[in-house]
Amino acid sequence: MCRHLAYLGPPVTLADLVLHQPHSLLRQSFAPTDMRGGATVNADGFGIGWLVGDPGDPGDFGRPGLARRYRRDVPMWSDASLPDLAASVSSGAILAAVRSATAGMPVTESACAPFVEGAAMFSHNGVIDGWPDSVAPLAEALPAAVLMTLDAPTDSAFLWALVRAHLRQGRSAASALTGVVGDVMALAPGSRLNLLLHDGLHIAATTVGHALWIRDGEGSITVSSEPLDPDDKDWQPVPDLSLLEATATHHSIHSLENRHLDIHHLDIQYLDQGWL
Ligand code: GLN
Repeated sequence: MCRHLAYLGPPVTLADLVLHQPHSLLRQSFAPTDMRGGATVNADGFGIGWLVGDPGDPGDFGRPGLARRYRRDVPMWSDASLPDLAASVSSGAILAAVRSATAGMPVTESACAPFVEGAAMFSHNGVIDGWPDSVAPLAEALPAAVLMTLDAPTDSAFLWALVRAHLRQGRSAASALTGVVGDVMALAPGSRLNLLLHDGLHIAATTVGHALWIRDGEGSITVSSEPLDPDDKDWQPVPDLSLLEATATHHSIHSLENRHLDIHHLDIQYLDQGWL
């Protein structure tokens, strides 16, 4: 299944983070080492999102900057222009993903993470079991216009619409992810839901069925499906069924296993608050 990563810290080039590490996301696109759930390569497109803008200038959700992105529906290794672009862009907040499309889902640029709004960038590694029928009741909580304008007809784009609705209600990144995981697991318990959300100031991630690792680099945080350098002992695995919350200087991991998932059902009232 897909591989994804997020970074928060002093500015780095996209190339240094995504292309030049020993086990970079580029390498994970053709030689991943810990795929679960059947796929072998991540060749169905990729995306890189990064925050730009004045950190003092609040974007949507009151967070700094604005997410920009570059996505393609081709394997990362086949994009001959990516190295020059990636060497030219620096940011202190980056989220990138390579995609292995779930069988039956379209291979198209708009299905590639990151999905973005304001400063928020989102990615999903996994699958909603029984898609789409199993989670149809959740769709009823979303306005028709949101469903008619999903980024793509995929489970990941639907998850993003749910996460975005929680963010629009003012919830934190971590609360948005646990709310969506709780709602989806209640209806489709066989799902794999490694969600990754960057809001410019925080990284939040869940592990439900797939690998995730974190490197706390004293002033920077990197979260990745697989360690970017297998010889770097600072990479730590995140246990399955966890919620990870991180700023640039601190991170914490909470078990989702024995805790009642914080289910925040979507509040239809946000329709009246001028979001659409
Ligand atoms: N189901 C999602 C998609 O098809 C994510 C797939 C994955 O994690 N490989 O885009």
